[in-house]
Amino acid sequence: MNDYSPIFQKGADETEYVSLGSDGLAVERLGAREFLTVAPQALSALAERAFADLAHRFRPSHLQQLRSILEDPEASDNDREVAQSLLKNAVIASAGVLPSCQDTGTALVIGEKGQQVLTEGDDAEAFSAGIARTYAERNLRFSQLAPQSMFEEQNTGTNLPAQIDIAAVAGDSYDLLFVAKGGGSANKTFLFQQTKALLNPEKLHAFLEEKVASLGTAACPPYHLAIVIGGLSAEQTLKTVKLASCRALDGLPTTGDATGRAFRDRELEGQVLEMTRHLGIGAQFGGKYFCHDVRVIRLPRHAGSLPVGLGVSCSADRQVKAKITADGIFLEKLEAHPERYLPELSEGAGTAPLTLDLNQPMDEIRRTLSGQPVGTKLSLTGPLIVARDVVHAELLERLQAGEDLPDYVKDHPIYYAGPAKTPEGMASGSFGPTTSARMDPYAAPFMAAGGSLVTLGKGNRSPEVRQACADHGGFYLGTVGGAAAAIAQDHIRKVETLDFAELGMEAVWRIEVQDMPAFLVIDDQGNDFYAR
Ligand code: SF4
Repeated sequence: MNDYSPIFQKGADETEYVSLGSDGLAVERLGAREFLTVAPQALSALAERAFADLAHRFRPSHLQQLRSILEDPEASDNDREVAQSLLKNAVIASAGVLPSCQDTGTALVIGEKGQQVLTEGDDAEAFSAGIARTYAERNLRFSQLAPQSMFEEQNTGTNLPAQIDIAAVAGDSYDLLFVAKGGGSANKTFLFQQTKALLNPEKLHAFLEEKVASLGTAACPPYHLAIVIGGLSAEQTLKTVKLASCRALDGLPTTGDATGRAFRDRELEGQVLEMTRHLGIGAQFGGKYFCHDVRVIRLPRHAGSLPVGLGVSCSADRQVKAKITADGIFLEKLEAHPERYLPELSEGAGTAPLTLDLNQPMDEIRRTLSGQPVGTKLSLTGPLIVARDVVHAELLERLQAGEDLPDYVKDHPIYYAGPAKTPEGMASGSFGPTTSARMDPYAAPFMAAGGSLVTLGKGNRSPEVRQACADHGGFYLGTVGGAAAAIAQDHIRKVETLDFAELGMEAVWRIEVQDMPAFLVIDDQGNDFYAR
């Protein structure tokens, strides 16, 4: 008796594809069977095109979800403002010059290769060649660090290595999913080793509410949220999270069976979505749209363990499917004209922002901010200093060795960011905020030494940062995450390297911004917009 039944019964593929031709493909007969042969150049060209599309275009369904926020009378003003920024950003990115986000991601290729598909050599090498070309030739960012030893790292300068996972399956088609995953987004993937005790409605709801709320805003909501309950191993649970967040498992059945097949729990998906709408976090600065949608997948499990996985696809919702068959090479159709989702909206709808002149001395900047309630909308004009992880670590070491902080850390607000390449003829490459929480350990010692008294980034911060702001009269501002192309084109007027030039995108930059939107998140009393 054959008891085998596939766990993942994915259903029909309803993706709309565009044909990329059939160069490099041939059908050959071996005995009674036909095989599809695929040249390595075809794999490289497909990966090159896929990652170029991903950097600049979105799925129509994602754009429609942003549009729906604008039309929802229950959405908060801030929800609508974020959705509008993200749609504008998509329009700018679609021109093919500025990528939609400055973090152009780790390249992932997830493939299922039919046993009747033959390729020459190493598929991973062929995909990597195409990925490297895209990242080298476009205005993307090299984000991968190679460890030289346990504590020394250097940028690979190619954005390789990519994560490439190819499984052998039955059939005569090569199905692929290309994903460009940003660091902030990847960091919001979690595994919780639970027990059977979680499997009752009350406990599960309470658990999910706590864990989902704790995702915070550092990965630039609104999110496509994926939850996986069960799994034959921790790694199966997390891989399912990744696929579900890419909506690659949407065709799963909606009920379980005696063989242990995976299924989507549509009822729980609806309940969790409703729960996210009442968390108050909204699309980054309060409101209803913390999540666009929710996927909940139930997997089989060993009786003694219950892994639960959680993850998101962020506002840089970058994945594209592809397939190679005897009929040709096909790539999922992404939206080339996102402007059709952006209605004519009156600029400046909602409350007018408080103008903050960053050309003033730091004490004046803080005086202007002091007394403003958290959540105040701001418009920033003037110089900012850009610095992130490596520089903060280096400056802390110097501080601990008895040196002072450089004046630029004391005299200007610090913007946590790392830009993509600057396109020819433009002032700036895509230049959105990075996750501020990574700089939390530096806030208290820097503020005590007179630096980082006003910082700008994205996402929530630790209680220690709140305390440091209260102790030293500091402020933390947030700006819209995920709208890096729009920030570059509409608000950054000048970029120059100031220090640590050898660090590439991790260098210290001095930039000039104009009318850059921001929110007061933590004030000098330690009040926190997100904690509220
Ligand atoms: S949208 Fe935000 S979380 Fe996503 S890749 Fe960009 S910076 Fe990272």
